[in-house]
Amino acid sequence: MYDFVIVGAGFAGSVLAERLTSEGGKKVLLIDKRNHIGGNAYDYFNEDGILIHKYGPHIFHTNSPDVFNYLSKFTRWRPYEHRVLASVDNKLLPIPINLDTVNKLYGYNFTSEELVEYFARIGEPVSTIRTSEDVVVSQVGRDLYEKFFRGYTRKQWGMDPSELDKMVTSRIPVRTNQDDRYFTDTYQAMPLHGYTRMFENMLTNKNIHIMVNTDYKDVQGTIPYKELIFTGPIDEYFGFCYGKLPYRSLRFKHETVDQEWLQSVGVVNFPNDHNYTRITEYKHLTGQQHQKTSITYEFPCWDSDPYYPVPKPENAELYRKYQALAEETPQVHFVGRLGTYRYYNMDQVVAQALTLYKKLALRTSVQEAITHTNGKHKKLYSAG
Ligand code: FAD
Ligand code: UDP
Repeated sequence: MYDFVIVGAGFAGSVLAERLTSEGGKKVLLIDKRNHIGGNAYDYFNEDGILIHKYGPHIFHTNSPDVFNYLSKFTRWRPYEHRVLASVDNKLLPIPINLDTVNKLYGYNFTSEELVEYFARIGEPVSTIRTSEDVVVSQVGRDLYEKFFRGYTRKQWGMDPSELDKMVTSRIPVRTNQDDRYFTDTYQAMPLHGYTRMFENMLTNKNIHIMVNTDYKDVQGTIPYKELIFTGPIDEYFGFCYGKLPYRSLRFKHETVDQEWLQSVGVVNFPNDHNYTRITEYKHLTGQQHQKTSITYEFPCWDSDPYYPVPKPENAELYRKYQALAEETPQVHFVGRLGTYRYYNMDQVVAQALTLYKKLALRTSVQEAITHTNGKHKKLYSAG
């Protein structure tokens, strides 16, 4: 019998499958309804032989040495610092907003100190920062908010930034220097041979049995197991009994262009034009050399796979009801971006999965210690 059935072979499910078998000595069945492992981080070589990400650009970054060292057991890395330009007023400008963004947009010649004073002047006073609009207007004022954030957010989320929790736009810092990196984390790198190869290396233990093309609902009740780890949407697991948790989705349009390069950086954002949000050109991320180049457009929508939990108060409240149900279901463990309805990056999901593993391992070692102690007691009593 399997000790664990794990639903979902993304970061959450694969980390747990690896730990539970390699360190925990357990037997695991890992299933995914898609035809591949890797979850949303899955990458593959397209028909032109260019490595692309099926579900949009995935750039690895973390401040956690534990997460980085753990993943380093399964891949070598290619150092990569991500840069993004936003197409605004017919100019391509650095985002996160920095000194060059403001100077190039308005034709100013500010120093960093002058920009600090400028932001202090144009930032709108907001007594309590609650929404994604508050975060931006309080820091950089209304005009920059409207040019860089309002349109992008309305397109990406199908709602106004004023309706979304502050954590969404807080992901993007504001800088007064010329640093044009998208992330400033200690570790920023791409798996040298891609994410899928890294996942393959994670899942080599002979006690991991993998079944793709397998939806949990089709095998539920047919496979005996001791415990379940569920990394799909938590509301789906409970049959949407309290109603549906909203997830924002994307449609991806992948294209290969017969020219060596299309854009000067990995991602160009389009806050105000088109019905796609951004174009990714993968060779910048992967370092691959090729005469052609592959790109992906992202079109936000509601009616495709669940990708983004939507951070707003009523959704957090609905999630808490499912979380309470989960707490009453101790033989099922919920983890990952969909399992815990959290807008998590890859490294946060890895950290969350490692923490769950430690909890499960600690529980096992406590049980073993109790069994061992009881055994000793029994011996003592029978001897005595
Ligand atoms: P997933 O990767 O979604 O895996 C869950 C798996 O469960 C899926 O494969 C799904 O098929 C399977 N599943 C669901 N229900 C069932 C079922 N009923 N039966 C069987 N299988 C099921 N993070 C970063 O750190 N950097 C980035 O640059 C970045 N870019 C992103 C870009 C996009 C467009 C998106 C959508 C996300 C991005 N992320 C990024 C976030 C990253 O994708 C997630 O943090 C991470 O993949 C979550 O891993 P997970 O295992 O929780 O979920
Ligand atoms: N955002 C924006 N304009 C940009 C980039 C980001 O308004 O040019 C906002 C938008 O709401 C987006 C959020 O900031 O959803 C977080 O951006 P990030 O790049 O982290 O999104 P992800 O890569 O997770 O889609």
